[in-house]
Amino acid sequence: MSLFVQKFGGTSVGTTEKIKSVAKKIAGFRDDGHDIVAVVSAMSGETNRLIGLAHEMQKVPDAREMDVLVSTGEQVTIALLCMALKDLGYEARSYTGGQVKILTDDSHTKARIQEIDIEKMSADLNKGRVVVVAGFQGVDEEDNITTLGRGGSDTTGVALAAALKADECQIYTDVDGVYTTDPRVVESARRLERITFEEMLEMASLGSKVLQIRSVEFAGKYNVPLRVLSTFKDGTGTLITLDEEYSDMEQPVVSGIAFNRDEAKLSILGIPDSPGVAYKILSAIGEANIEIDVIVQNIAADQSNDLTFTVHRNDVEKAEHILKNVATDIGAREVRADDKITKVSIVGVGMRSHAGVASTMFSALAEENINIQMITTSEIKISVIIDEKYLELAVRALHTAFGLDNTIEES
Ligand code: ADP
Ligand code: ASP
Ligand code: MG
Repeated sequence: MSLFVQKFGGTSVGTTEKIKSVAKKIAGFRDDGHDIVAVVSAMSGETNRLIGLAHEMQKVPDAREMDVLVSTGEQVTIALLCMALKDLGYEARSYTGGQVKILTDDSHTKARIQEIDIEKMSADLNKGRVVVVAGFQGVDEEDNITTLGRGGSDTTGVALAAALKADECQIYTDVDGVYTTDPRVVESARRLERITFEEMLEMASLGSKVLQIRSVEFAGKYNVPLRVLSTFKDGTGTLITLDEEYSDMEQPVVSGIAFNRDEAKLSILGIPDSPGVAYKILSAIGEANIEIDVIVQNIAADQSNDLTFTVHRNDVEKAEHILKNVATDIGAREVRADDKITKVSIVGVGMRSHAGVASTMFSALAEENINIQMITTSEIKISVIIDEKYLELAVRALHTAFGLDNTIEES
């Protein structure tokens, strides 16, 4: 008998019929003698709908009230799932984040979990009940409702699994595992039997939204066995494993390709070449709480500098405004903004021990006539910024170039 924390995402609980089939799935695990803590998301589309309502009230909705509002989505699902379980004859109890008590810091809309009280959940499990917990939410020290950021139910699942020392945290979703790239974009994408925490963390940070970044961080830190599986189709899914558990033989050079459509590029051109200017520019952006991703600086023939960097698309107007002020201050010539870009990245721990990965990447893009605007690398990833209209072509070309295409027909 094992204890599983099973998280069901929005599409898995998108209708009452789907909630009933989730209940049946959980019932099957109970029949096999397993203890189950289920974490559920809001029904698909509900969180977006609630955010839309908030924006009808205030241009920039109050963060505390936003959390009170969006946390209701998950509260609906926990109650419905418990009703469905009871209807099948199983004991079940629902809890909001605050009722469990999932204590977080007070950063509304992006709170971090600090502590979890397992008393009520353990007592219920001992009584043979299925525990159903609302994902994505907690409370701060003053009992204000907080939420964990978009996709945060994954993190609730992993955090509960860590606190309860569960045998496995299972993330049930609308795809049957983690793929070499988003299977909705590349048809020949292949399901990975396993992927290391390190690679999954890069994939998530670089745009693969199948798991929230923090959930992977959490699982790595507390060594929670984590598996991504389909709600609708039986199978073993993808296991996220420790680096050491991968033998060299199995290690592909590139494990996956991630992409992010949410970035925009800003350039400040004709900057006088003197010490401290890059600091002046980037600190002004930092002070406005805008995160910078890729940065490139080049020296022009006249010895002036051009500095280009990327930010989240939501921040581009704010960043452009700040840059224009800084440009006047330091005597730079021009500021340009471009939100028609995208970042494509290849990820793999195997890159550490293989040379020539970058040249394979660049030649595959060159063959498709795709211009690389910026490049950034780390030990296990290479990212390029390209024109967004080439996104799918680039991902497909790289997928083939690194031998990731699915050549065996899956039944
Ligand atoms: P949920 O509602 O269950 O949390 P999400 O929409 O957050 O589901 O995550 C699942 C989606 O992630 C898939 O439908 C898929 O389009 C997308 N995705 C992106 N990259 C990958 C990848 N490498 N492997 C699998 N799915 C991916
Ligand atoms: N319902 C929240 C969202 O849509 C949290 C989640 O689904 O993980 O972002
Ligand atoms: Mg999700």
